[in-house]
Amino acid sequence: MPAETKLFLCLKDNYGVLLHDPATGATAAIDAPEAAPIEKALAATGWKLTDILVTHHHGDHTAGIAALKDKHHCRVVAPRNEASKIANIDETVGEGDSVTMGSLSARVLETPGHTAGHISYFFPADKLAFVGDTLFSVGCGRVIEGTPEMMWQSLLKIRNLPDDTRLYCGHEYTAANCRFALTVEPDNAALRKRATAVTQLIGQGEPTIPTTLGEEKAVNPFLRADVPSVAASVDLTGAGAAKVFAAVRGRKDRF
Ligand SMILES: [Zn+2]
Repeated sequence: MPAETKLFLCLKDNYGVLLHDPATGATAAIDAPEAAPIEKALAATGWKLTDILVTHHHGDHTAGIAALKDKHHCRVVAPRNEASKIANIDETVGEGDSVTMGSLSARVLETPGHTAGHISYFFPADKLAFVGDTLFSVGCGRVIEGTPEMMWQSLLKIRNLPDDTRLYCGHEYTAANCRFALTVEPDNAALRKRATAVTQLIGQGEPTIPTTLGEEKAVNPFLRADVPSVAASVDLTGAGAAKVFAAVRGRKDRF
């Protein structure tokens, strides 16, 4: 049976998402920005929280863990390399590990850069990926603890997933990301189309995610650092992709 998801906003612009396995009833929260909206989503769906899958240690992804664990006695899975920074962990995981959630199974990808131990969860059978603050729609996370080279390698790892993978990210930043991306690739027709669709979705109060990897490969400048027109836009024609990525990321930081 295919997995089901429920997406909702938390805090100011964080996304919370529940992943539900109809075969067993298992339900995971991907990150826990705050407990109340997650409780509300559980009540609305009638699902029972069995797991929390954490992508990284930042407070806007972990603040709800203690209260949820206290109430639901759920298992908390978190990145091995950030275990010292996250409370209430039951299981730590790293690159290549499997996480079983009911009858669903995820492969763990280490995607450092935003934080040093950030991980993403890929469910191959359902082609679902939860990428936290590594990749956003039409954008990517700030490189806070790692290096641009490290972040570029993490993005390549995600880019290698199947094109029809549905991506869930940690924040609703898509409209601002489109405004920036259009300064990098003003002539990218797919990006212009995406920007128009995003304006419409936001206007209707609708989320802009999930997105698909195939779509992101066409519109997201941070996944396109090895495309000659992107290199040219930051005056780095012929430079290596990691260097181009660093320049585009630096420009976005100042945007
Ligand atoms: Zn973060």
